[in-house]
Amino acid sequence: MSGSAIWHPFTQHGLGEPIPLVDRAEGAALFTADGRRIVDAISSWWVTTHGHAHPRIAAAVADQARKLDQIIFAGWTHEPAETLAAGLRAIMPPALTRVFFSDSGSTSVEVALKMALGYWLDRGERRHRILVLEHGYHGDTIGAMSVGARGVFNRAYSPLLFEVESIPFPVAGREQATLDALDRACRGGAAAFIVEPLLLGAGGMLIYSPATLAEMRRICAHHDVLFIADEVMTAWGRTGTLLACEQAGIVPDILCLSKGLTGGAVPLAVTMATEPIYAAHYGTDRARMFFHSSSYTANPVACAAANANLAIWREEPVLDRITDLARRQADRLAALETLPTVANARRIGTITAVEIDDGEGYLSDLAPRLTAVFRQHDVLLRPLGNTVYVMPPYCIDDDDLDLIYDSIAEAVAAISPVA
Ligand SMILES: *Cc1c(COP(=O)(O)O)cnc(C)c1O
Repeated sequence: MSGSAIWHPFTQHGLGEPIPLVDRAEGAALFTADGRRIVDAISSWWVTTHGHAHPRIAAAVADQARKLDQIIFAGWTHEPAETLAAGLRAIMPPALTRVFFSDSGSTSVEVALKMALGYWLDRGERRHRILVLEHGYHGDTIGAMSVGARGVFNRAYSPLLFEVESIPFPVAGREQATLDALDRACRGGAAAFIVEPLLLGAGGMLIYSPATLAEMRRICAHHDVLFIADEVMTAWGRTGTLLACEQAGIVPDILCLSKGLTGGAVPLAVTMATEPIYAAHYGTDRARMFFHSSSYTANPVACAAANANLAIWREEPVLDRITDLARRQADRLAALETLPTVANARRIGTITAVEIDDGEGYLSDLAPRLTAVFRQHDVLLRPLGNTVYVMPPYCIDDDDLDLIYDSIAEAVAAISPVA
């Protein structure tokens, strides 16, 4: 849209790439103003779980907006937030007794880091070093960038990012090196280890084993290093279970949730914490309270959407849908995998990913070339470098899945080196 004043995120406007105008969405489909129906193969950047414009969530938002739209949350409360906190307590691990609200995945991570430091201040130990996993991503605010992978996307801000210690990613077969590095780093006396459980999303859809996750958690517990699970992307069934941590049988000290918390309809995040972390901030001394707030903390409309999401999880066979989607994707991935330039096919829960080799190794313009083909096929996919991944809403039907996987096969053919 020429003439628009909008500065888009992660968009190089100078390339003049088309920016479609979307005016409606339903289920797994987006409808553009120029009459196209686009299949949303990445759940609008990993947020939409049950489908767009879900009737139960939309109704909850409309009802709540008429009743109580917004209220200061410092020293005040409201029914949608209380219901949501109780609902989360009922389905999340019992040790996570406290629910702190914020507005995005990034802020849920900032809150987690601040909670961890508050905990150590109360214990009278000067621990502030944060351990991170190589290739991790935790958001785009300064603190969240500090604990994420460094690269071209944060080069300009690197002087402001605080120092962390990075543990090598647990590549299959070399997990022990990761565990040894984590053990060494913990001995140095760290405040916390932050990790995306089982799947590193923005880092390239990198999967590692539940056994490794369980062992990382054990090492942190052994050294009293707080374990922060950033499940902003992996929760709400994405990896096949409500939480990815479940598959490793572990419970973190601090848990970050956002993206699918409202079914992906409106922004909201929570950071859940164990009782000792809450207790470190509890007392009669105002200087010990948790100093974090944003204007829209626990916005009632957002909480109502999250409550509708929780009701869907309680009352509908969501896990069956996820298992079924995983099976249907496995078949299509198997077919895709037979193509000569497709490598490293992998999947976890509702997510599949492949590497595309165009014969010249990694090319920085591969992703936009692939994206152009996907666009011609009316499929919304957004490759990460030469990694193409599929992460659809759980309601997607077989026809739309075929469209997605056919478009990937055709994109692969279009960019393949001429034999
Ligand atoms: C998306 C994401 C974030 C950041 O969430 P925003 O809502 O975009 O701020 C943090 N952590 C992980 C693992 C994510 O995938």
